[in-house]
Amino acid sequence: MNSEQKQYDCIIIGGGLAGLTLAIQLAKNKRSVLLVEKNRYPFHKVCGEYISMESWDFLQSLGANLEELNLPKISQLRVSAHAGFAIESDLEMGGFGIQRYTLDQRLAGLAVENGAQIIENCSALDVQLEDGNYIVKTTKGTFNAKLVCGSYGKIDPSFVKRKGERKGKYIGVKYHIKRSFPDNLIELHNFKNGYCGISKVDDEKYCLCYLTTTKNLNASGNNIKQMEQNILMKNPFLRTYFSESEFMNEKPIAISQIGFRKKTTYQNEVILLGDAAGAIAPLCGNGMSIAMRSSKILATHLEDYFSQRIEKQTLIDRYTKEWNTNFSFRIKTGFYLQKLFGKRLSTLWMLKLLNKTPRLLRKIIRMTHGEKF
Ligand SMILES: Cc1cc2nc3c(=O)[nH]c(=O)nc-3n(C[C@H](O)[C@H](O)[C@H](O)COP(=O)(O)OP(=O)(O)OC[C@H]3O[C@@H](n4cnc5c(N)ncnc54)[C@H](O)[C@@H]3O)c2cc1C
Repeated sequence: MNSEQKQYDCIIIGGGLAGLTLAIQLAKNKRSVLLVEKNRYPFHKVCGEYISMESWDFLQSLGANLEELNLPKISQLRVSAHAGFAIESDLEMGGFGIQRYTLDQRLAGLAVENGAQIIENCSALDVQLEDGNYIVKTTKGTFNAKLVCGSYGKIDPSFVKRKGERKGKYIGVKYHIKRSFPDNLIELHNFKNGYCGISKVDDEKYCLCYLTTTKNLNASGNNIKQMEQNILMKNPFLRTYFSESEFMNEKPIAISQIGFRKKTTYQNEVILLGDAAGAIAPLCGNGMSIAMRSSKILATHLEDYFSQRIEKQTLIDRYTKEWNTNFSFRIKTGFYLQKLFGKRLSTLWMLKLLNKTPRLLRKIIRMTHGEKF
């Protein structure tokens, strides 16, 4: 157990894309940073692993050196309804594919190179604010800081108390597979109460990842394989992918009790970013970019705070205002789009309409994405 007297400028709870990119930016500004992450890098995460191109320049500016990974660039979208009716579109900005296993580890390395301290296999258990000093209790000791940021993802740790909070009704499941599939294509296939994406990532693998409801899993005796057989494989595209691919891992990785909506940017004295502040429906393919962009916005305001140009309340107010301007509309759009998907008839009607009005389809895609940052 470690109980340090040192006061860090900032403790970051959770080392996904939001937390890691924030740690790198603060460390580059010579702020003392401690990031605690409950897992050990590298590790796999449930995620479709398609990153909108809007984040490319930002990642490069941090030193991610993505060019050397020869990543697939994705410029085409195909979406199918439950029985296989499919439409296609160009993706104006497009994206690239990279495993979280690869990207998060690379960013963790960069954070340390720039002077941040990372403690792995370490869960934050509690945060208290006493006389302007934050005390963070973790499974590996107690640490002090001037400020604490929470980038712990979609599921709140037990010390976070939100009023009227209900558990999310969705589950996410991910596999890496090998098969023949175009490098530049991302597909999204609907099935009853869910959708499944497939696109290429690094290391000649393909990410096959879906979102569905806990109800679907319960109806299949809580058996993922059974659910895939009974429900997902009714879509002819998914029948092919699930029955004719080489699966790199026998068991998928899965998460449960997730929801997608705007939350708050400040909770229990902690400033929130990434999914902890609000998660967008995965069908928009934009959660990772929102997580990274929120870290960029926050890093700017934190620098003003640490340089004593602004008070803490001004920091919170300015960050919240900018967060809302950038993400509220996108998250709402994703929420309503997700409501249309999953239902057999509404999905089919919508795809038939979009097939006849490609400009509308392009507009919807644009509404879920942002500009480069
Ligand atoms: C099924 C599915 C598919 C998706 N597909 C895509 C996609 O293709 N493209 C896209 O852009 N987005 C996608 N997303 C969304 C994307 O994965 C998230 O928006 C993104 O990971 C958010 O990053 P984050 O850093 O906020 O959280 P995370 O990446 O979830 O990181 C949070 C970190 O905090 C750690 N943590 C949690 N609690 C504690 C604690 N108490 N103490 C210490 N550490 C803690 C966790 O271990 C984790 O590493 C998808 C999401 C789902 C569910």
